[in-house]
Amino acid sequence: MLLLLKASVSEVAASDVAARLRMLGLAVHRTDHLGRIRLAAVGDGVPVDWDQVRRWAEVDSVDTIAVPFKLVSRAFHPQDTVITVGRCAVGSTQLALMAGPCSIEGEEQAFTIAAAVARAGATVMRGGAYKPRSSPYSFQGLGEEGLKLLRRAADAHGLAVVSEVMDSQQVPLVARYADILQVGARNMQNYSLLREVGHADKPVLLKRGMASTIEEWLLGAEHIVSQGNRQVILCERGIRTFETYTRNTLDLNAIPVVKELSHLPVIVDPSHGTGIRDKVAPMARAAIAAGADGLLIEVHHDPDHALSDGPQSLYPVQYAELVDQIRTIAQVIGRRV
Ligand code: PEP
Ligand code: MN
Repeated sequence: MLLLLKASVSEVAASDVAARLRMLGLAVHRTDHLGRIRLAAVGDGVPVDWDQVRRWAEVDSVDTIAVPFKLVSRAFHPQDTVITVGRCAVGSTQLALMAGPCSIEGEEQAFTIAAAVARAGATVMRGGAYKPRSSPYSFQGLGEEGLKLLRRAADAHGLAVVSEVMDSQQVPLVARYADILQVGARNMQNYSLLREVGHADKPVLLKRGMASTIEEWLLGAEHIVSQGNRQVILCERGIRTFETYTRNTLDLNAIPVVKELSHLPVIVDPSHGTGIRDKVAPMARAAIAAGADGLLIEVHHDPDHALSDGPQSLYPVQYAELVDQIRTIAQVIGRRV
């Protein structure tokens, strides 16, 4: 339920309303909009006499939130959420450009790519240290050593860091090195992991599951936000369809749909979305034109020898060219790089 408190209600009175709702067995989350306090009261089937709550002196109105994802909905929080990470404000007019290798492979690789993406205009470096690979015989990532290299390479070029966390126990370790915790497509419905990153003090980049509906994806985000971490960045990375020419089918419909349903920022990963190097730039341009808040792109200086996802990685020169194009598109739609 969404409670809109009266404009005159003091902080003390608002806390008292929240405490009374908690006593009824509900969890209460607050947001402020246009100078008014809004409380979302959520719980699993707790019987509450809402007509009585509606008569509380501090309460202006009580309405149902008509979607299952309550806290990430625009009904609860009408204004866009903006998440500040380093020099980047994800969800603002400034586009969030995140780029780097699929996996961190070694010192020279990490520093070479960090220099290239920083020069091109990225503000966040990506790089996996714990890799969710389809085959147990594929490169699984360098682990903590990879996180250290990623951090050092990013710091050397003034970049923030995003890296994947594969299970709940890894959260404290990855959070020590990364500014953004990535939850991968395969883990979008790993609810114990979502709960754990929901307690972390770092923004979370939540990729869409490869067979997940938009509603399931937003409910994944709801799991994180319900634990107290409101800093969730959604990332569309393509879904499985009957199409086999591309690795996945990048669902650009998801951008305007999510923008209407949710206040959370949404970025696009055209690398996994297409799986094909020369299809990455056209889909990246389309994503920004469609209203995405940023891009997550794989870049490698020697993709033929990359230990993962070489065929979909851009060469640094291609990435720089793409950022220039994005800069032009951004101007047309009132945004900037
Ligand atoms: C990745 O970003 O390298 C990755 C494994 O992505 P996804 O979870 O979208 O497959
Ligand atoms: Mn990858």
